[in-house]
Amino acid sequence: MIDLHTHSNFSDGSDSPAQLATRAHDLGLRAISLTDHDTTASHDQMAEACERLDLELIAGVEISLLDNTFPRRGGGGESFARGVHVLAYFLPLEPEHPVQQLLARLRRERAERNARLVRRLNELGFERLTLENVSARAAHAEGVGRPHFAAAMFELHPEIVGERTGESWSRLFVDWLGSTGRAYVAKTTLTLEEFVAVAQGSRTVFSLAHPLLNYLPEYSAASIETEMPAILDSLRQRGVAGVEAYYGGTTAATRALMVKLTRDAGLIPTGGSDYHGLFKQDVSLGVGHSGDLRVPDEILDELKAAR
Ligand code: AMP
Ligand code: ZN
Ligand code: FE
Ligand code: FE
Repeated sequence: MIDLHTHSNFSDGSDSPAQLATRAHDLGLRAISLTDHDTTASHDQMAEACERLDLELIAGVEISLLDNTFPRRGGGGESFARGVHVLAYFLPLEPEHPVQQLLARLRRERAERNARLVRRLNELGFERLTLENVSARAAHAEGVGRPHFAAAMFELHPEIVGERTGESWSRLFVDWLGSTGRAYVAKTTLTLEEFVAVAQGSRTVFSLAHPLLNYLPEYSAASIETEMPAILDSLRQRGVAGVEAYYGGTTAATRALMVKLTRDAGLIPTGGSDYHGLFKQDVSLGVGHSGDLRVPDEILDELKAAR
């Protein structure tokens, strides 16, 4: 069993890299990728811990990008740029590499978004919320993200968002922080194509993270079968090698359908739990939300062959 999508406290997870590596080792994972948002700053600590535990580590990151080929429709039929998450594996880690320069740009855009999001929430009645309070919940300043905002909103303004439960946490993203929410502030201006172009020649392998969350948030088996093939085909044409068909947030039946469509499109079905520790309390490392996720070891061999 492997897990190719996890987060540490260098972004919006709660485990340190060493804690994550220990958890992975205890679970019996053969290989892991630590895919923090827009940063590989956690890599060295993770590599050291994995080496000690004889656990294979795949360098990774989860990047926030735009897909303008499939715009998102608003409630009134308006068209918005679609924000998507893309996993990149085996990427260059030297700070001066153009790929790392793009990640640095994304982190600057994240910091600007966070400042705007505080102002927006203040206007909407979350008067006690400050950037200092939100940032204090993250272990590393560059890793502040919406889960830290969500935690602050529950703690500082229960009169607006209620008590924190699994259900109210999801609702907070629907009502406030997510793309349908009142406080939504878009983050990135960088497109999928721009990022892929800069990575050309670096042996980086891209996989589209949680494809249904990105493209079909309200899916059914029927809508997956009608909508996804064109999306998958387009992604392949744009230099994406894999799609996260084995995603721990979906059911076994949905995963099986996504694996089939991914193979049909000539893409590698990658997989992971999207583990965030205490910032996604219903998701377990390796086995996901449903508990029955098992990402086959052979997927890693296919990813390596795609470099
Ligand atoms: P950010 O990187 O700041 O844009 O925040 C993105 C992160 O917010 C994701 O990786 C998730 O951890 C979390 N998130 C986004 N949408 C949701 C949602 N609907 N429910 C729970 N967590 C979410
Ligand atoms: Zn996250
Ligand atoms: Fe994501
Ligand atoms: Fe993630």
